[in-house]
Amino acid sequence: MRKQFEGKTVVVTGGSKGIGKGIAKVFSEKGANVAIISRDLTLGQETANALQHNNNNVNAYTADVTSLQSLEKTAQTIFNDFGGIDIVCANAGIFPSATIDEMTEEQWDHVQNINSKGTFFTVKAFMPYVKKAEYGRFILTSSITGPITGYSGWAHYGASKAAQLGFMRTAALELATDHVTINAVSPGNILTEGLDGLGDEYLHAMAAAIPFKRLGIVDDIGHAAAFFASKEANFITGQTLVVDGGQILPESIE
Ligand code: NAP
Repeated sequence: MRKQFEGKTVVVTGGSKGIGKGIAKVFSEKGANVAIISRDLTLGQETANALQHNNNNVNAYTADVTSLQSLEKTAQTIFNDFGGIDIVCANAGIFPSATIDEMTEEQWDHVQNINSKGTFFTVKAFMPYVKKAEYGRFILTSSITGPITGYSGWAHYGASKAAQLGFMRTAALELATDHVTINAVSPGNILTEGLDGLGDEYLHAMAAAIPFKRLGIVDDIGHAAAFFASKEANFITGQTLVVDGGQILPESIE
């Protein structure tokens, strides 16, 4: 039986680990060719090898999302390798912690450069290829933190995640003329390597705050991205889908 994304090429920035790896896994299982982008090519290659399926390819590429030139070069290489680019998941991101009183201008800029400017650069670099696709899709990984909630230590991060959504709404209008959609998945707390440094206490407290009493898994975000990428989602653009096990819903601590 033909798989859902057979013949499609999906790019995932930050696909070497964490949520990006989950997105890459889901698209690969659904038959897509997947191009993983990260700065660390060795880890990207390891992940690509692990996700390889029989009839489709998973390749690793290196690019830094803070450099438009580096993304443009990689986009051209991916296009040459696969002959087209249909779906781009702008997922690469960082979440270092610093309260506002101790946060430096450099720390603020670093987070905006990767999370917010990186999203703009990713869309800009891949737009010419995605516009040529039968049906083109951009999917952003935003967050509940910033657009919906706040968390001490993440003012810079929350601002960058809200900025992605502001960018998305105008991008949706500009891309609509080419029938390309752009939407965002807003994860709650998802268990990834990126949370390793936050410690068990944080992870337990977070799990307790989620009505499902567990953190999300990366596949949860992969399946949400696959929904936005589906042919059936062709009239949905500029929207966000919260995937958080109900974390943002309680009016009070239960
Ligand atoms: P992660 O496990 O730390 O993975 C981050 C990925 O991004 C890696 O592949 C990393 O590879 C790549 N990356 C970082 N900076 C990059 C750059 N400048 N250029 C290219 N690639 C870069 O993080 P995660 O938890 O999966 O988070 C992924 C996304 O989900 C982020 O946008 C984050 O804000 C969002 N999110 C996560 C959670 C959560 O609970 N985990 C919740 C809400 C939203 P290299 O370092 O090799 O480049």
